[in-house]
Amino acid sequence: MVPGSTTVKLQIFHSGYCVAHGKVIDPVNGQKHCKVYATWALIEHPEQGLMLFDTGYAPRFRSATAHWPYRLYALMTPMFLETHEPAVERLKTLGYAPDQIKSIIISHFHGDHIAGLHDFPNARVFCSASAWAQASTVKGWAAVSKGILPDLIPGDLGQRIQCIDDAELGQLNLKDSAYDLFDDGSMLLYALPGHGRGQLGALLQTSDGPVFLAADAAWQLEPWRAGILPKSIVRLFFDDWGAYKKTFGELWDFAEAHPDCKIVFTHSPELVGL
Ligand SMILES: [Zn+2]
Repeated sequence: MVPGSTTVKLQIFHSGYCVAHGKVIDPVNGQKHCKVYATWALIEHPEQGLMLFDTGYAPRFRSATAHWPYRLYALMTPMFLETHEPAVERLKTLGYAPDQIKSIIISHFHGDHIAGLHDFPNARVFCSASAWAQASTVKGWAAVSKGILPDLIPGDLGQRIQCIDDAELGQLNLKDSAYDLFDDGSMLLYALPGHGRGQLGALLQTSDGPVFLAADAAWQLEPWRAGILPKSIVRLFFDDWGAYKKTFGELWDFAEAHPDCKIVFTHSPELVGL
């Protein structure tokens, strides 16, 4: 897609799941109980080393939601996580120590995407400026109502974060617009507003072709393809329902303009072979 761009190796794993009502995710075809797996990606870049796109769930989610008002988060989306599943454990199985993870790209700061951040104390963290502006300041009900659990954010993250101005991120509806993270075409970042504040996605060039990690711009591939939006009750904790619907639709145009690109949503069930 980008001639001469560097290619990366991509592997996708999951760390736990929460249970949700399937009709909320897919009001047409959803089943009563739905396992919403928290996936994340391990990316190997030939020069930049190992990096993650999001982190999935980690045990710290339990302590971060032990008290009110944060407990509400765990009541709404109860987490199920086995001891071998956290990202740091899966990486150990692959032979990687936590400090080998040089960078983490955070799509947005919802708990199921950042719960593992504490396990990678040496990584620099990339996110959008607006995502960080919200996540680093909200507390209490204002936080939990937007899916933010302050205890999941390491105290020193302010020193390790590299914020990208939202206006510099690629826009789905603008041709050839992209934020080239390493100036080598390997990872292009795009704004995916609406779901969580300042959400971004990453278009990777892999040896198998381009893959767009589109985070929670939609929850599942099939309903997105069919144009089925989640139940509008979710607007209560989404950042901006109007922007979400716009992003949801613009992704179709993006897919049409990039027919060779595989689009991947964090919680889409085919990622865990279900
Ligand atoms: Zn999510």
